[in-house]
Amino acid sequence: LNFEETAGDEVDGFVDQFGKGDFTEHACRYCGVQNPACVVRCNVPSCRKWFCNSRGNTSGSHIVNHLVRAKHKEVCLHKDSPLGETILECYNCGCRNVFLLGFISAKTESVVVLLCREPCLSVNALKDMNWDLSQWCPLIDDRCFLPWLVKVPSEQEQLRARQISAQHINKIEELWKTNPDASLEDLEKPGVDDEPQPVALKYEDAYQYQNVFAPLIKLEADYDKMMKESQSKDNVTVRWDIGLNKKRIAYFVFPKEDNELRLVPGDELRLRYSGDAAHPAWQSVGHVIKLTAQEEVALELRASQGVPVDVNHGFSVDFVWKSTSFDRMQSAMKTFAVDETSVSGYIYHHLLGHEVEMQMVRNTLPRRFGAPGLPELNASQVFAVKSVLQKPISLIQGPPGTGKTVT
Ligand SMILES: [Zn+2]
Ligand SMILES: [Zn+2]
Ligand SMILES: [Zn+2]
Repeated sequence: LNFEETAGDEVDGFVDQFGKGDFTEHACRYCGVQNPACVVRCNVPSCRKWFCNSRGNTSGSHIVNHLVRAKHKEVCLHKDSPLGETILECYNCGCRNVFLLGFISAKTESVVVLLCREPCLSVNALKDMNWDLSQWCPLIDDRCFLPWLVKVPSEQEQLRARQISAQHINKIEELWKTNPDASLEDLEKPGVDDEPQPVALKYEDAYQYQNVFAPLIKLEADYDKMMKESQSKDNVTVRWDIGLNKKRIAYFVFPKEDNELRLVPGDELRLRYSGDAAHPAWQSVGHVIKLTAQEEVALELRASQGVPVDVNHGFSVDFVWKSTSFDRMQSAMKTFAVDETSVSGYIYHHLLGHEVEMQMVRNTLPRRFGAPGLPELNASQVFAVKSVLQKPISLIQGPPGTGKTVT
């Protein structure tokens, strides 16, 4: 980046334009600030919205708030900003993830170089040049872009801007996931903002419990469906195999973004090939039979006919969403609501948050807690198993890898 053209006072010229009510394309989508030196464009092709670098009433700046909530990571500066239309990227490898990017100033003062933390800074990628890597600083500091890169709007500009709360930011970001062109005014429309009933600590009876939880599970299911169905991948490379049951198996890497989509055996995926001169278009649904150590997915296809096994590149993969686990939750809750004898009195009242006397289950505890063929349990796993065996109902929680599934 070269600062030759920098003229900090230029910025004042834009103050007067602001607030006259005409919406310009590059106005911050949260607060309306439109000073070109203070806004950046989110560079994700499906988004390309503009945001400013002011915090307003929130703890991070508007642009950082947006990037975090929308899981977007690339930005582009405004053409009329001091640095001109520039996509921020690593000078060495071209990485555009602004959360990894930092800068080093040159000894000549008017030039800085952008460098990513991983891998370029850590492998000392610029060591042969005249840059002092120990001077590297991240571009985002305290949830704000550095002000020399994207200016913070003046106090006057901020006062004239729309005052948006963190709660409204959450809502508009949620709405953008289904309607990218939604505006803040759309939040006022009926239906958009209908809040479900809040959960309670105590419930009158199982009907009331179901009344509160059924809509929440419905919301969760809708969200899960939307997330999973939006995770299609193109340009997937496949290698083929045949299982012992003579079914076709496709192996491929299906990258998961931010862990939202963790595949497990049993999940269904659709594998597609759009066809070429020698192959007609083809698609088949299959289910995941395993995930290899190399993060490859093994998909057993339902139909073995017409599979283009001599093709390896250019496949697409979609997630086939299944409602099974949500249907089970709804049906269990319905049984709970209509049939008082579906669970013991203790569990019934306990789930509803009523005061119930602690019950111990009399059980002869086993001598050893391990299971054949599985690793020995550690002390806290043994404690968990022991306590579960002695109580009518237990809730076990723990971070990934602590043994909830296997133990
Ligand atoms: Zn975006
Ligand atoms: Zn803003
Ligand atoms: Zn890099």
